[in-house]
Amino acid sequence: MSLFPRVRGIVFDMDGTLVESALDFDAMRREMNLPAGQPVLEALVAMPEDEARRCRAILDRHERLGAERAFIIPGVPELLAWLNEQGIHQAVWTRNGREAARATLERLNLRFDRVVTREDGPAKPDPSAIWAICDAWQTERREVILIGDYVFDLEAAQRAGIRGVLFTNGAEPQECEGHELADFALRSFEETAELRRFMGF
Ligand SMILES: [Mg+2]
Repeated sequence: MSLFPRVRGIVFDMDGTLVESALDFDAMRREMNLPAGQPVLEALVAMPEDEARRCRAILDRHERLGAERAFIIPGVPELLAWLNEQGIHQAVWTRNGREAARATLERLNLRFDRVVTREDGPAKPDPSAIWAICDAWQTERREVILIGDYVFDLEAAQRAGIRGVLFTNGAEPQECEGHELADFALRSFEETAELRRFMGF
């Protein structure tokens, strides 16, 4: 018996979870003169204004390209259809900008209750967006899970006090950064029986 009630809402990461937009962060960092591995949004905040403006334009251009070439990860539409049948809330929470996030989701015909982007507040791994989403849904934290493919997703879930699902996209969970923070690992959206059980169904 699970100690958790049935899940009533899911917060999804976008890139690498719902869609593959193949944003090339290494190329972005090279154009921005940032060291390898440095998170881009945090670097932008710390830059002098002129440099930040130049780098925001680079980020926007990469995100626009990402929106144009993004494709849906297999199995996602079927899972979303099932969530709709069950009346489970669905939100997207991304470090992307609003314009690129909306363009991506619209072009791929993916519809969500809420789309939370970096313009809406502190980016992951800050957990506060999760609390705002839970408030809007009137759900308890125990009834909400997050699904994401990166350590920031799982860190945010843990700090928010909700359960985090690592999407590995076929990889072994242990190969994925942040796997030790995950409450559950999902390899594919085409094989969701265990995920549904984890959700209390
Ligand atoms: Mg991601």
